[in-house]
Amino acid sequence: MQDRNYSADVVIVGAGTAGSAAAIAAADQGADVLLVEQAGAAGGSGTIGLVTPMMTTRIPGNPLCSYVSGEIGRRMAAIGAASGDGFRFDPMMLAFVLEQMLMERGVRMLFHTALTGVRMEGRRVESLRAFNKSGQVRITGRAFIDATGDGDLCALAGLPMLHGDEETGKNQPVSLRYVLGGVDTAAFRGFLNERGANLTGDYLSGAVTTAPNREWPLAGLFREAIAAGDLMPDDMVYWQFFSLPGRADSIAFNCPEFFDLHDADDAENLTFVQLRGKQAILRQLLFCRKYLRGFEKAYVSAVSSIVGVRESRRAVTDYIITADDLIARRKFSDVIAQSNYPIDVHGRRLNHPDDAFNGEENRPWFEVPLRALIVKDADNLLVAGRCLGAEFIAQSAIRIIPTCRAMGEAAGIAASIACRAGAVHVVDGAAVRAEMIRRGARFAAS
Ligand SMILES: Cc1cc2nc3c(=O)[nH]c(=O)nc-3n(C[C@H](O)[C@H](O)[C@H](O)COP(=O)(O)OP(=O)(O)OC[C@H]3O[C@@H](n4cnc5c(N)ncnc54)[C@H](O)[C@@H]3O)c2cc1C
Repeated sequence: MQDRNYSADVVIVGAGTAGSAAAIAAADQGADVLLVEQAGAAGGSGTIGLVTPMMTTRIPGNPLCSYVSGEIGRRMAAIGAASGDGFRFDPMMLAFVLEQMLMERGVRMLFHTALTGVRMEGRRVESLRAFNKSGQVRITGRAFIDATGDGDLCALAGLPMLHGDEETGKNQPVSLRYVLGGVDTAAFRGFLNERGANLTGDYLSGAVTTAPNREWPLAGLFREAIAAGDLMPDDMVYWQFFSLPGRADSIAFNCPEFFDLHDADDAENLTFVQLRGKQAILRQLLFCRKYLRGFEKAYVSAVSSIVGVRESRRAVTDYIITADDLIARRKFSDVIAQSNYPIDVHGRRLNHPDDAFNGEENRPWFEVPLRALIVKDADNLLVAGRCLGAEFIAQSAIRIIPTCRAMGEAAGIAASIACRAGAVHVVDGAAVRAEMIRRGARFAAS
């Protein structure tokens, strides 16, 4: 083994949804970028995690607040891996497109490399330690972005973190997503429509849940299978599927979901989910073959190699977005992302007032300020993605793919500016947004 040293202007840990966008945007600013990733592909939750489709911002006209996201959508559609607007997509093909975009921009990538330590010098990140098959790795840089989803860089630096619901300390439920191939999707569509699903167009999606008032056409079959011992009651709590553009014989599943594990960065819990999750997937495969027309020859074509974590550690930043900010649709001068995606805490009855359009009626969106990405107790460190500085309830609406990409893009531009300015806290959010717009990002008019 041979220890290695790396150095770059901007060092990003986590090549997932936000980290990939951050690296692309920083490289577009002329920065020398190193992207460190523990898995063997770019894209994180949206590729190896098999998350699909991309949610919309639910703002009229659906502005993505990200030129990188626009380019990803166009490239995905051009290879037949996404719908024209980029929203329905094949997660397995997204990695190809992201890696192409990163390579074209000259981003240096170090895959199969896990961050293991952070050395601080006063308020500055001096260097990172990581481990890979070559041995110990030391990485220095001028600005750093924690895009690990779990805030690993901030936590390893010993910085204060937020974690879980403020009332209970519990994280959101986790899931293990999978894809079945060999499906006759036309037969499945007919089967669903005969049972009253009323699906039109090419796209198939639906869900069976035990949530009140959400009885779906297949619920009776699930009850039958549970009574026959072919499924367990847990299989019915949240079973959701989507078809995949470019994969006519495949159906992607947003389940099984685990509601009772409440520490999403506990390695024993993550192992449990991989083991129990696969047994649930096997059960659901056999159920589909036996009970659903179109699945007679179905097989498992992919299982996520990472557990689907919705929320875990979050950074303490210059501004922490509150639930009230969301509900009041608060606007910020340093806005870098806008969305009207609702509060989305799985399996929890919320005490919060209905968050639908009860703010400013003519400006129905909430905003993410750049300050929610600037780590409070460090001078050269930003976060991007689901580990941003936000209260639990607020994070549940911000965490969707388009908003994570916009945050990544903003963090990448801000980190590049910080390399010149010397510190992240002085970076002007309005200037970052102006640069995003100059490169093609669309925002809703304020
Ligand atoms: C089950 C599930 C379903 C979802 N459904 C949808 C949906 O339908 N539509 C939607 O828009 N959003 C959905 N989301 C939300 C969305 O996918 C995620 O919140 C978002 O992709 C997170 O982006 P991120 O960049 O913060 O993290 P990720 O995309 O998860 O990226 C983090 C990256 O960091 C790497 N990493 C972590 N730790 C280290 C380390 N120590 N060293 C090196 N690398 C590290 C990881 O391997 C990963 O590549 C869903 C999320 C889940 C979990």
